[in-house]
Amino acid sequence: MLFRTRILTLILSSLIVDFVFHNLHKIKLTLVLFGLITGVYAQANDTILIKNVNVIPMDKEIVLNNQNVVIAGDKIISIEPYKREMNHISHQVIDGAGKYVMPGFSEMHYHWRNKQGGIDRDFKLLVANGVTTVRNMAEYNWQNHVAIRDSISKGEKFGPNYYTAGPYLNSNDLKTIEDAISIINNHKIKGYDYLKLADNLPKDVYLKVLEEAQKQGVVVIGHAQRGMPLEMSLRMRSIEHVEEFVYVFSHTQRNDSLFLKQAIEQIKVSGSNIVPTLVVFDFIVKCLDDQTFIKLNESESAQYMLPSDFKYWYSDENPYRKNLKGTIRNGVDALTRLEGYFKWMKTFTKMLADADVPLMTGSDTFGFVVPGFSLHEEFQFLDECGLTPFEILKASTITPARYLNTIATEGTVSEGKHANLVLLGKNPLEDIKNTQTIEGVVLKGMWYDRNNLNTLLKEIFIK
Ligand SMILES: [Zn+2]
Repeated sequence: MLFRTRILTLILSSLIVDFVFHNLHKIKLTLVLFGLITGVYAQANDTILIKNVNVIPMDKEIVLNNQNVVIAGDKIISIEPYKREMNHISHQVIDGAGKYVMPGFSEMHYHWRNKQGGIDRDFKLLVANGVTTVRNMAEYNWQNHVAIRDSISKGEKFGPNYYTAGPYLNSNDLKTIEDAISIINNHKIKGYDYLKLADNLPKDVYLKVLEEAQKQGVVVIGHAQRGMPLEMSLRMRSIEHVEEFVYVFSHTQRNDSLFLKQAIEQIKVSGSNIVPTLVVFDFIVKCLDDQTFIKLNESESAQYMLPSDFKYWYSDENPYRKNLKGTIRNGVDALTRLEGYFKWMKTFTKMLADADVPLMTGSDTFGFVVPGFSLHEEFQFLDECGLTPFEILKASTITPARYLNTIATEGTVSEGKHANLVLLGKNPLEDIKNTQTIEGVVLKGMWYDRNNLNTLLKEIFIK
């Protein structure tokens, strides 16, 4: 026993010395393995106790005050009221007094835009911002998102729980029935989680995509089919960008409250999820207005853009400034037109929420819409629409879990669920801005305190 204790001391002290941040998961594995070998320390070495914390479980709008949350491995094994005399044997004890623990956030419309930065850069930004689940929305030809997803899930790669669509498909990729069949076969073989349509298709091809995908068990998602009645688009599992409804509906329909009420009922009944992505539209509007454009560099997140991206987007090479700004359509200037759309989109988003249409939070990570930070900006826009903090948080936790078919293990803080959590200094149900008071993140059972998260952010600047 003495020998064993000495070895444990030795291993522990060498571990502390070697506490290299990126090897956290390996260190934990070492501890677990050591515990398994000795048969003594397995539980203690692999357990995290978040002590005396307020739990926001997210299965209903409630705060469970003063709880002990015990995590073993990657799972929450118990949640029980905190008692002073309680003495859990835990590898790590986190003081949760006065703080709030809730499920990690979901970025449901992510893109890896620039090869130069590498995706690890984005993963650091996302996790540092409390994002523990990501749905990637396209695979460009220089990428392999299935490999990224699989290496994350095997624990070989640092990153949030990851899901991916296949290639960004437009009408050039899907001209014929044969194209539809071969693309769906490709999705099946490669093992993407979703097939994303990003363009209007000929009706016969679109219908074939849906039918063949269903046959093969491939889930179809995407932008709306703007040239067809709403019902056609609602056959997809989810629709990206509330902006799409601006184009599916006519000007008259957009201003007809009875029509909109019926359309929303139709969306609700269809069971399709909607991802508003308001923040990216706001960014485009800001590009068209010299006053707001010049201030884009003032946001905290701008410093985390790749220097080459910043240079491009913060110049008149920016395609929205170059090609859209100042253009007139039907006598209306682009800025005025888009501002009008945005106002309508916010009203429509609120109507969707009021009708309990399942919404999900996503930002489109594009230009000044910087991964991680942009999700909290999206929360702000949803707040501006009039959604309650609980509705917004639902769209980032339990609703995505149901959508991704991971509800058995994700989306709420509850016994048996995976430990993908965020610890906040202030209650987000009182003010959605409090999602930004991040004190720590638990990703797959690994605890990252504020210093660890700051390290991730600092690493962005290391070349
Ligand atoms: Zn997208």
